[in-house]
Amino acid sequence: MSSGRFFASREGGRLECGLCPRRCLLAAGGAGRCQVRFNREEKLPFYGRITALAVDPIEKKPLYHFRPGTEILSAGFAGCNLRCPFCQNWQISQDVHGSRGRLYAPAELVAAALDADKTGQPAIAYTYSEPLVHIEFLLDCMTAARKAGIANVIVTNGCVTPEAAAEVLDLADAANIDLKCFSEETYAEVLGGNLSAVTGFIRRAVEKGVHVELTTLVVPGLNDSKRELNKCRDFIAEFQGRVIPWHLSAYSPAWKWNAPPTNPSFLTGVAGQAREKLPYVYTGNIALRERGFNDTLCPGCGKILVSRRGYKAELSGLSLKTEDGSRHYFCNACGQPAPVR
Ligand code: SF4
Ligand code: SF4
Repeated sequence: MSSGRFFASREGGRLECGLCPRRCLLAAGGAGRCQVRFNREEKLPFYGRITALAVDPIEKKPLYHFRPGTEILSAGFAGCNLRCPFCQNWQISQDVHGSRGRLYAPAELVAAALDADKTGQPAIAYTYSEPLVHIEFLLDCMTAARKAGIANVIVTNGCVTPEAAAEVLDLADAANIDLKCFSEETYAEVLGGNLSAVTGFIRRAVEKGVHVELTTLVVPGLNDSKRELNKCRDFIAEFQGRVIPWHLSAYSPAWKWNAPPTNPSFLTGVAGQAREKLPYVYTGNIALRERGFNDTLCPGCGKILVSRRGYKAELSGLSLKTEDGSRHYFCNACGQPAPVR
């Protein structure tokens, strides 16, 4: 029996993995689709294997409404349960044998996050490929981080079962979740995923009070029709009264997808139209000539709260008050609470 979580015994020594909707049946000694979960007696071989560790601006995750202007220790892992043909990180998500890195204990990651913190707001992002296929390590790290006063941020495709979602979201403070398209067919046939699992994950995260931002990589020929993008927008608009920023990112040709890069003016046009229904829509991976396009405005008076150039954020429109150990942001111009945590 594997030492991993979410496994159930089946006939012939096989194990069913219930971590994601694929529900792989693993023969004795074999691995699942993600290549990092095994049916072996010993400890999971990828437990604690981190392929990349860096201190990034939190805007790079991207998170624009959670601790803007701070930095975050970012840990990346090998493997993924999806197979997006345009994966921008395919070298680590699809070829775990080519991935490097070393083994970390949860306590080491916690110590590294405390060391990296310069603003009294330590945080760890589990990111780069798909962290949730390493849920055993993640839960151990997130538990240790929370005890140490460190915020947990997950950057994920959100394609896991409700049982797994419940456990990880209980320990998450913020999440950037991919909403890759709004078609069950595309998720199943092209990406190897499941739209309902993703929308369920997003709903669950919102219900649990996790700060949520969503990202859609706009891929020509895959999800760039008006109908498809409007469906994504309308889904996000359902969460009235909650701040759910939407990041529309430009794609570049990668791995098996050779369509030309997303046209920047197309992307800004989609963002402009989406803003008619959603208050916070941003564009990523394009150089913007217009200043102000990725700024966060006050919902009360329209003044700039946070201005951004690339990953650099200036918070000159915000004022901060600390009450009972919690931080609260307000608009400098009109005093209204700012949509920032
Ligand atoms: S997490 Fe991996 S092993 Fe488990 S069902 Fe998904 S792809 Fe298969
Ligand atoms: S979910 Fe992300 S990491 Fe996984 S294959 Fe798709 S783009 Fe790559």
